Amino acid sequence: SKMRSSRIKKTKTVCTYCGVGCSFEMWTMGREILKVQPQPESPANGISTCIKGKFGWDFVNSKERLTSPLIRDGERFRRATWEEALDLVAKKLREIKDKYGGDAIEFIASSKGTNEEAYLMQKLARQVFGTNNVDNSSRFCQAPATTGLWRTVGYGGDSGSIQDIYMADLVIAIGTNTAESHPVLATRVKRAHKLNGQKLIVSDLRMHEMARRADLFLHPKPGTDIVWLSAVTKYILDKGWEDKSFIRERVSGFEDYVKSLEPFTMEFAEEATGISKETLMKVANMIHEAKNMVILWAMGVTQHQAGSDTSTAISNLLLITGNYGRHGTGAYPLRGHNNVQGASDFGAMNAYLPGYQPVSDPTVRKKFEDAWHCTIPEKPGLDNNTCLEGIMNGKIRAMYVVGEELVETGSDSNFIRDQLEKLDFLVVEDLFLSETAKYADVVLPASASLEKEGTFVNTERRIQRIYEVMAPLPGTRPDWQIIQDIANRLGARWNYGHPSEIMEEAASLSPIFAGVRYELLEGFKSLQWPVRSDGKDSPLLYEKEFNFPDGKARLYPLKYNPPLSSGLEFDLHLNNGRLLEHFHEGNETYKSPGIRSKVPGTFVEVSPDLAKERGLETGDLVRITSEYGSIKVSVLVSDRVSGKELYMPMNASGDSAVNLLTGRLMDPTAHTPAYKEVSVRLEKITGK
Ligand code: SF4
Repeated sequence: SKMRSSRIKKTKTVCTYCGVGCSFEMWTMGREILKVQPQPESPANGISTCIKGKFGWDFVNSKERLTSPLIRDGERFRRATWEEALDLVAKKLREIKDKYGGDAIEFIASSKGTNEEAYLMQKLARQVFGTNNVDNSSRFCQAPATTGLWRTVGYGGDSGSIQDIYMADLVIAIGTNTAESHPVLATRVKRAHKLNGQKLIVSDLRMHEMARRADLFLHPKPGTDIVWLSAVTKYILDKGWEDKSFIRERVSGFEDYVKSLEPFTMEFAEEATGISKETLMKVANMIHEAKNMVILWAMGVTQHQAGSDTSTAISNLLLITGNYGRHGTGAYPLRGHNNVQGASDFGAMNAYLPGYQPVSDPTVRKKFEDAWHCTIPEKPGLDNNTCLEGIMNGKIRAMYVVGEELVETGSDSNFIRDQLEKLDFLVVEDLFLSETAKYADVVLPASASLEKEGTFVNTERRIQRIYEVMAPLPGTRPDWQIIQDIANRLGARWNYGHPSEIMEEAASLSPIFAGVRYELLEGFKSLQWPVRSDGKDSPLLYEKEFNFPDGKARLYPLKYNPPLSSGLEFDLHLNNGRLLEHFHEGNETYKSPGIRSKVPGTFVEVSPDLAKERGLETGDLVRITSEYGSIKVSVLVSDRVSGKELYMPMNASGDSAVNLLTGRLMDPTAHTPAYKEVSVRLEKITGK
């Protein structure tokens, strides 16, 4: 009716699930969400969304939302006023700082919060506590990709836009279950493959949807992508198929790099990866025939001990073949959370100030110290992952965690629980009483993305605004206000009235955001960083120069070290990844009845061969044990996996969460846990 439609409010927002960054209008009446309507001008998605963006919003009105601060009272929590809770947080953090120094506290920013909130979190750590102990969950996902790109081309982000992926002649997708993890982006690849004759090579352990569609599917032994990538690059060089003028004009370090490739013969690669020489030569041929190639990758590459090196090998291959700096080319580490790119971009990192300015650089430090009237240590702080060892060693005494379900998304949940127990003080800010929040001394109820303003950065480095769709749920507050209130209780004099003022400050201190202003981001407008001071943005990087002083890319020599494994008595390999319908541990999607009814529980995929060998059928209950823990889960016999490789969705919490099995091995450079390198054994518990 007319009455009804006049009360309908339409607000632009950006999806809070994956890093594709779909934007849409949300139609609401009060707190009721009527419709999600993507727009033709939605820059990343046009008129598409996936099931999560379309239907995954019920959590905002969940009865389980926290609506009052909680203070620990023995084994339980009691409700408290904001005044009391914030005073207590400030008092406790001050005590710990006075007693042990600011480096005794770890700050974790949310990768689902806004850029402005990530910026404030790192400013709180550095200005108020004088520590670089601040990080975000990119440590758990794409930090190794960032390392690989920094080593070779200079910017830690996708080198072009989603449109460039669509335009490529050849897409190589490594360790990415794109159809389920980045659905709308996968749709573009599927369309280009069908309509434009785009070729697709997929390398994965698992025969997922994209693998089935691929022109060529590679199934390397776990953790050996670096070997076939390097061998194919060497083969291209041996054949003289490299882009000689690109290498001559735009790349340095060629001689040393070529030398480092010597061990990567086709014979060695066949042996190490289990992929035949003929198949690898076919890969090289397809690359040679393609005019423009992009490489996409995700956790199947980065969550390995060789995550940074494999990401580097990807970039080396792109450089040797001249596939940077033109439309339809480049490197695309696909970002997981809606704002995991932005949380890193805006400085919630232990070694970088906003805009990837290193804390180790005295000029950079001086700029921030002058602006913030403080002293910033030159040594990088502890990150999300190493802070856990920090707690174990007694160095970290307190943590302030915003919106991160550390217990279930960090590697080795049992270890993490033990460490959180030891903290003198833990404050957790979240929408729900998460498993992590259960260890807190103070829990602060945050507002959801629909209830606040700010900006996110998607996987294309695209900065997009979100507007307030509905007022904050009574009792909750936006993170930026909470962080500001805590800072001011500790003597800071912050006076931000709106997130736009935080962005202004971040832009004034970070060259890559120099021209970012809220006016340029109105409605569906967006900017892809780096943004020059005149407001010109950068949909495509490296057209003329790479991001190094001499403008040249750097080929980076690599060695292959077989993955360390401590689990000799474990005969099976366990892999894990996403389901389309759920997001991570499911704190949000499991609270959506529509989604939950569709995919209620978890399972382990077992290959038909292994099922036969062990007498297993779908529905059987099994115990899976690793060096770190043990879970019970039901079997799904599936030809998506083969041989002795198992697969579990990571979207499960409680007793069957996969991170009860994952361990403490990590990438030595980025410190990302090797979630995908887990040795396990499996025992049948009961029949059907
Ligand atoms: Fe949200 Fe990603 Fe789905 Fe787009 S593809 S609607 S950003 S979860």
